[in-house]
Amino acid sequence: MSSQTSGPTEESSTGAVEPESAVETARRQLEHAAELVDIDPNIVERLRYPKKVHEVTVPIERDDGTVEVYTGYRAQHDSVRGPYKGGLRYHPEVTRDECVGLGMWMTWKCAVMDLPFGGAKGGIAVNPKELSSDEKERLTRRFAQEIRDVIGPTVDIPAPDMGTDPKTMAWLMDAYSMQQGETTPGVVTGKPPVIGGSEGRDGAPGRSVAIVTREVVEYYDRDVAGTSVAIQGYGSVGANAARLLDEWGATVVAVSDVNGGIYDPDGLDTAAIPSHATEPEAVMEHEAPQTVSNEELLELDVDVLIPAAVGNVLTAENARDVSADIVVEGANGPTTTVADDILTERDIPVVPDILANAGGVTVSYFEWLQDINRRAWSLERVHEELEAEMQAAWTEVRNTFDDRDVTWRDAAYIVALSRVAEAHDSRGLWP
Ligand code: GLU
Repeated sequence: MSSQTSGPTEESSTGAVEPESAVETARRQLEHAAELVDIDPNIVERLRYPKKVHEVTVPIERDDGTVEVYTGYRAQHDSVRGPYKGGLRYHPEVTRDECVGLGMWMTWKCAVMDLPFGGAKGGIAVNPKELSSDEKERLTRRFAQEIRDVIGPTVDIPAPDMGTDPKTMAWLMDAYSMQQGETTPGVVTGKPPVIGGSEGRDGAPGRSVAIVTREVVEYYDRDVAGTSVAIQGYGSVGANAARLLDEWGATVVAVSDVNGGIYDPDGLDTAAIPSHATEPEAVMEHEAPQTVSNEELLELDVDVLIPAAVGNVLTAENARDVSADIVVEGANGPTTTVADDILTERDIPVVPDILANAGGVTVSYFEWLQDINRRAWSLERVHEELEAEMQAAWTEVRNTFDDRDVTWRDAAYIVALSRVAEAHDSRGLWP
């Protein structure tokens, strides 16, 4: 299926060469966006770096009595608009640089949504699949202790990301609260609703991906009903986006998980395919006329392609083989700089992650408000307010896209960077 026309070392217009780390992609995107915004170069220079990166050692006792030592990070990028906000990732490839790049993206994501938060990201370099639930609990509680001084409801508020879930957030909240001597639900978001989590938080990133897909499809004079969609990843983002789009009449022809994908040109019954949360890695067990590899899925001839798994999947190697008319980024950083240039050159619109999957942090913001006010919202209210926030951000980005004649990514960056830069400008430098 793949007819490789370019090598992975191809250079982009910005001089980017693959392989590219998250921080390199994030910095290139910032530098490119800075050229489009009237912004003090000193502020751009500050935004190229995180404010602080915390690196901690996290030793735990394994179930067999041996001790294993892991490294954890919390990269705090910028807090000019409010407390740092962003997920915690448990994945073997977590590095300091990856957290810095992902933390930068959180700054823009919160700004594009106009949330009163800055950006951060953290995680532990660990393969959570190799740990028992008890081991994960010990790891999380010890990590919470190690970063306790640098997080808090008004300082830095972690949330779930790859390899972490509501259960992880419950342990973190409990460990923090026990040390503080008071129950502090606002220290993390993405908790189970019974301890102050928000209804609808789990499905929120996927819901925003679906909303943005619907809007962009309509922008290009099509209807979501009948639109064919391929989705890479069937976790919280992919499965929820797939099911919602399916509900709205789209034809979801392919979905995948880490083991590969299934394909049905007539459309899959997405509700019948167990998501990662209910049955991890079960996609391939579902009956379908054809199977596809994860690489093949990215090249399917569909109206919309949604990479919603890991980063850096659209690269110099496959961007020329993408056959979708529109790409909507469900994952964080799925497109390398070179691939982004190739897709732009090929007139394939790419709606960026910082807008498309921002439903997660937006409902995190709702959760934080509910925690502070000690008052829970109904699922209907969460859905209504999320829809309104997504519409507002979409309208702002779409107007910028139309006025400035730039890419969707540029438009989202212009909105986000202008807000962050204005806040820096207005607060000034201390002392
Ligand atoms: N990890 C999610 C993201 O990348 C959510 C972050 C949050 O809710 O703070 O957007």
